[in-house]
Amino acid sequence: MKVAVVGGGISGVSVAYLLKRHTKYDILLIEKDRIGGKAYSEKRGGYLIETGPNGFLSNKAEIKKLIAESGFDSEIIESKDESNRKFIFSNGKLWEIPRNPAKMLLSGFLSPQAKLKLLKEPFVKPVFDDETVESFVKRRLGHEFLDKIIGPMVCGVFAGDPKIMSMESNFPKIKEIERKYGSLIKGLISMMREKKAKADSISGGFSSKLLSFKNGVGSFVEHLSKDVETVKDEVLSVESVGGRYRLLGKTNSYVADIVVFSLPSYSLKRVVKNFDSEFADYLNEIPYAPMAVLALGFESSKLPEVKNSFGYLFDLNEIEDTIGVLFDSSIFEHRAKQGKTLIRIMIGGQLSKESPFKSNLVAMGMKELNRSANIHYPFEFAYKKVHHKAIPVYTLGHKRVKEAVLDFEKKHKGIFITGNAFFGVSLNDCVKAAYNTLEKMKSGL
Ligand SMILES: Cc1cc2nc3c(=O)[nH]c(=O)nc-3n(C[C@H](O)[C@H](O)[C@H](O)COP(=O)(O)OP(=O)(O)OC[C@H]3O[C@@H](n4cnc5c(N)ncnc54)[C@H](O)[C@@H]3O)c2cc1C
Repeated sequence: MKVAVVGGGISGVSVAYLLKRHTKYDILLIEKDRIGGKAYSEKRGGYLIETGPNGFLSNKAEIKKLIAESGFDSEIIESKDESNRKFIFSNGKLWEIPRNPAKMLLSGFLSPQAKLKLLKEPFVKPVFDDETVESFVKRRLGHEFLDKIIGPMVCGVFAGDPKIMSMESNFPKIKEIERKYGSLIKGLISMMREKKAKADSISGGFSSKLLSFKNGVGSFVEHLSKDVETVKDEVLSVESVGGRYRLLGKTNSYVADIVVFSLPSYSLKRVVKNFDSEFADYLNEIPYAPMAVLALGFESSKLPEVKNSFGYLFDLNEIEDTIGVLFDSSIFEHRAKQGKTLIRIMIGGQLSKESPFKSNLVAMGMKELNRSANIHYPFEFAYKKVHHKAIPVYTLGHKRVKEAVLDFEKKHKGIFITGNAFFGVSLNDCVKAAYNTLEKMKSGL
């Protein structure tokens, strides 16, 4: 049996690796550009730059399982202790976020009204239907929580606009707590009592460590792909031929019994539009947030003390063009030489006032570092990576899109769809979806 996996980001490479390891199928991975997709690490000028993701949380089971079964554990590195310090830029200054939420209430970061609103949270009536992240947070916790805490995290991680993001599709566990316990506070207390809190991703986010690899996230994807036969080609369309599938590429065509698409939704749409136009229409519903990663290298001695931290996010009212500043060399070892600091500035996202592609990114990044952290010394190194369509944003219609994917798979036996456009955007979600694809294939669905 011949299997073609189309798209060589972490989603596709994980599927290809798992199929190679757990089945006798003949696997071909087709990637139009370079293996890794968004998960790519670049070594330049003594720095190790992540052009996309820089890590995953230690409580994420599936990616850890894949690392273990592919024999890559010895490459794992833990984030440094100094990266436990995190900041939010709000009202013109950087506020350190205490790890203990109770301490946050004692600080002056939130107004008395916001604290009062929090105390009233257990009495807010639950809403069972899906709603936007903005509406959920405002309803339960108030607008200040949205602007100063949840919004910055949502923008920093998903690059999306809380006004259009679906609560159900992005934070199913939090929505589930509201449904089950009627309140987030009551739910968290009950879960802590039940000693489940550690296993849950919400509190797990506080207690677990960020992990990566000595040579960057890209090194893991490369490692997974090394024994998989790969061709460089862009798949343009798919058609069925006598119970098999033919993929038409820019340079070649490929016939396979099984096809796994692990493509961004806009690419998948182009490939399937003449094959199943109804399904292709659903793929229009996924917007993508644009983002540029600007990496700047500095002499450490010339930077303010805040460099010894994870970095900072922005109060929604403070977002101009940048949604996050990460001190990568304070988060992980091996990112810069002794005495140097690597800063990654995330420019763009759906809330950015200016398109990150029209402007001079370096000037934009320096202006932001100057405004928010008083960093104005000349950098010694600069690198940028622009992602015109960086991260898919799951809106209120996302549930329908996922249903359409499952219907498509049922209708076209032997075609499977995975990737961050549908089943979660984190590295772990991508790997989890790969395990699911393997299971579906093994059970003949
Ligand atoms: C800046 C940034 C920072 C991030 N930070 C984190 C983080 O710290 N932690 C985390 O967990 N997640 C993070 N993410 C999210 C995570 O990196 C992505 O969701 C994940 O890497 C996506 O993997 P994928 O394989 O689904 O898609 P992609 O990486 O987009 O891979 C799709 C692949 O398909 C190929 N392709 C497209 N069209 C065709 C075609 N027609 N034929 C053949 N090949 C094609 C592309 O070239 C690409 O290689 C971040 C994302 C970005 C952009």
